[in-house]
Amino acid sequence: MTACPCGGAEFRTCCGPLVEDGVPARTAEQLMRSRYTAFVLGRPEHLWRTWHPRTRPSTVDTGGVEWTGLTIVEVSGGGEDDDDGVVDFEARFAGPDGPEIMRERSEFRRRGGRWVYVEGTDPRSSSGPL
Ligand SMILES: [Zn+2]
Repeated sequence: MTACPCGGAEFRTCCGPLVEDGVPARTAEQLMRSRYTAFVLGRPEHLWRTWHPRTRPSTVDTGGVEWTGLTIVEVSGGGEDDDDGVVDFEARFAGPDGPEIMRERSEFRRRGGRWVYVEGTDPRSSSGPL
């Protein structure tokens, strides 16, 4: 059994079905985890198809960063009966001078029955839209 990059016990029953087969996420957190996993595994097509058309880039690049771990800090909404949600997380990566942490508050919305990523802000910066 292979551990899931997002921290889940097993890739096959965690982010695997979402990333590999396009199975819809049930919750915003599940989509958030699968998108982190897609970055780790270099699966830009999963990122693209789960990105809101209004905010997604024309191409998605997953290269260049060695991600080393994900921690979900706080989840607000984003449940199976919700239409939007916010996931606050920390993603660790290997920087040029050692381990670094990226902090983001990601906004998700249900669109046509499927969760999509809208945009993210750094909750530590006071100048963000939130
Ligand atoms: Zn996972």
